[in-house]
Amino acid sequence: TVTVRGLHKRYGPIEVLRDVDLDVAAGETVCVIGRSGSGKSTLLKCLNLLEPPTAGEIRIGGTAVTGPGVDVDAVRARVGMVFQHFNLFPHLSVLNNVTAALRHVRRLGKEAAEAAAMTQLERLGLAHLARQRPGRLSGGQQQRVAIARALAMEPEVMLFDEATSALDPELVKDVLDVMRALAASGMTMLVVTHEIGFAREVADRVVFMDEGRIAESGPARATLDDPETPRLRDFLARVL
Ligand code: ATP
Ligand code: MG
Repeated sequence: TVTVRGLHKRYGPIEVLRDVDLDVAAGETVCVIGRSGSGKSTLLKCLNLLEPPTAGEIRIGGTAVTGPGVDVDAVRARVGMVFQHFNLFPHLSVLNNVTAALRHVRRLGKEAAEAAAMTQLERLGLAHLARQRPGRLSGGQQQRVAIARALAMEPEVMLFDEATSALDPELVKDVLDVMRALAASGMTMLVVTHEIGFAREVADRVVFMDEGRIAESGPARATLDDPETPRLRDFLARVL
């Protein structure tokens, strides 16, 4: 579970997140939508402490991750993150991309790390690419490696930030299918996406961000099919 209360984030004079409250229950998939600059990425970055919140409380699995004395690496190990631009290590093989954090953060030995990595690579249909460098793979394959790398850490929650936005159209479906299967398997997921169809079909709830606030949220279908606020109606009219 993820619990966010009164989250504020400021860059100098700019208030990017304004009093965000958010709950993601265990096993739930919540999609975050909103205009460019509305604070979606910043919200995810605060959740895994890539950016320090200015104020507010964040709890992951019941443990407060904001406040003094937090072990940042321990928090990140529990929160898997997948970015738009895969962020794989280009000089490492696919296998070593997946084992790196297992070895250096989780402190697994080589064999245990490789076994855990291969389990995830097999699950995502990538085992045959384990010895390749990421540069030899398609964008969709690279993104699936990034997902395998996050899953290998056995996170409590997975965060996706526009995971399909950089992909060629024909590769988008592969990655969405992986995300759909992950949601169905009971993973707790917070997904920033422009894929409104995916949100409608896969998400339990949708959160619409507008100028740093959650302007509307609710069950995915009802919210997307019949938005209450003019701002969300207007946004959907532009993107659909
Ligand atoms: P997009 O859909 O384009 O990815 P977003 O909703 O993810 O947009 P954010 O990246 O969270 O938006 O950015 C929200 C606001 O915060 C923007 O106005 C952005 O310029 C500003 N911002 C983000 N990161 C920083 C930073 N490191 N320093 C200063 N301002 C920042
Ligand atoms: Mg963003």
